[in-house]
Amino acid sequence: MHLLLRGQDFHFEMENICRLFLPDEKIVTLYDTEDDGSFPGLTVTGTLTNEGGKVHLSVRLHIGDTDNTLTDTLPETADKDTCELGMTTLLYRLLCDWLQTSQPWGLVTGVRPVKLLRRLTALHGEEAALSHFRDRLLVSEPKLKRLHTVLHTENELLALSRPDSCSLYVSIPFCPTRCDYCSFVSQTVQRAASLIPEYVEKLKEELAAVGDMQRKLGLRLETVYFGGGTPTTLSAEMLSELFQVIERHFDLSHVREYTVEAGRPDTVTEEKFRAIAAAGIDRISINPQTLQDPVLQAIGRRHTVEDFYNAFHLARRCGMNNINTDLIAGLPGDTADGFARSLEGIVALKPENVTVHTLCLKRASNLVIRRREDVQKAADTAGMIAYAGDRLTESGYQPYYLYRQSRAIGNQENIGWSVPGKSGLYNVYIMDETHTIFGCGAGAVTKLKQPGSDYLERLFNFKFPYEYIARFDEMLARKERVISFYEQYR
Ligand code: SF4
Repeated sequence: MHLLLRGQDFHFEMENICRLFLPDEKIVTLYDTEDDGSFPGLTVTGTLTNEGGKVHLSVRLHIGDTDNTLTDTLPETADKDTCELGMTTLLYRLLCDWLQTSQPWGLVTGVRPVKLLRRLTALHGEEAALSHFRDRLLVSEPKLKRLHTVLHTENELLALSRPDSCSLYVSIPFCPTRCDYCSFVSQTVQRAASLIPEYVEKLKEELAAVGDMQRKLGLRLETVYFGGGTPTTLSAEMLSELFQVIERHFDLSHVREYTVEAGRPDTVTEEKFRAIAAAGIDRISINPQTLQDPVLQAIGRRHTVEDFYNAFHLARRCGMNNINTDLIAGLPGDTADGFARSLEGIVALKPENVTVHTLCLKRASNLVIRRREDVQKAADTAGMIAYAGDRLTESGYQPYYLYRQSRAIGNQENIGWSVPGKSGLYNVYIMDETHTIFGCGAGAVTKLKQPGSDYLERLFNFKFPYEYIARFDEMLARKERVISFYEQYR
């Protein structure tokens, strides 16, 4: 499609609105060009002019015989944000009308709607912030209600963090095999097995250096999170060695939560759970994604539903009393009934956390075929997410964090649910960017947060394990910035 911008440059938001409806369209943006009928396919023209003491907005949608235009007029004093919102609203309404649909999150395209609601609440009060979401951003009532609940749950968790708080993320970017829908930079064990021992050695070195910095700076470590990949791809001995380095070098006296993702049931053993328990870690994640064997096969997960149940019960026997389980709505081959059965199976196990994700689509090759399928798929996935919300609420869970991802089917969201008192703090802190997060391991990003402000500085580790190992010294040298960053604010 072509997006023609005349008298304005709201390309970022206008492109994002187009992607909500047409995620597979390649968007060609041109400036100060007229739609003279020569562009193939869909053409959208957004024009802003100043005339007679007013700002005039117009958006035209043109494809074949369809040629619709909407206009709006704003006072001359309208600021850039108001003009942008006016323009995107016209575009949104034209696309809704043309495609006979609407979006559950309306004009919200960012991944952190809770953060936006919190910011607007701080500026204008809660009622005004909610009205903005409802009336200006056109967010549907069920999503707004959920957002409001999450805001309040999150506020209690955020209040636990202080200006000198920090968290630690440890990246283990290895998995036994690759799931079809995976978007992470994880290496399969078959391909990267030879790298693992050296990777663990370097990671221990990095953890020791960062731990020493945390102590030196007197920062309060609130949460530790091992993610990936699948951390339990490592042997029990390797996991124990990493836990011991953390214990020796970090001050753990304030840690409220320590999580190890044991995501793939095909990686866990009693020995690994015992190693996790021995280190005093009680929060783990075991992720079935679905409790339907044919769906597991369809997404390339090389484990069965029975493997998941065995892993879950083993974890309980090893003393794990805070378990998260992930489900995904919209998986290929899944149905509303299948998803409901998966959810019932999970609820019966009474995990402390359930995270319900929406599948994100990869780019499709045939737009027309995909679009027809997508409409049905979006409706089914919306039903699954709504069902999960009702059923988990009835079962005593509360939503405590929420985020969106681009290309999620039907523009649905991801929500973390927990029983009271067991919400995953790290998930909230990373999503809200509440305090500094030290990232160790390949692909990890350290986000240094200026105390008392929203300013963040990022330090990137190399993405792939072989780069992480080969250029380790260079990367560790970058970490020196942590000390000078904090020294500015002393
Ligand atoms: S377990 Fe997670 S990180 Fe690993 S391949 Fe599957 S989706 Fe990707």
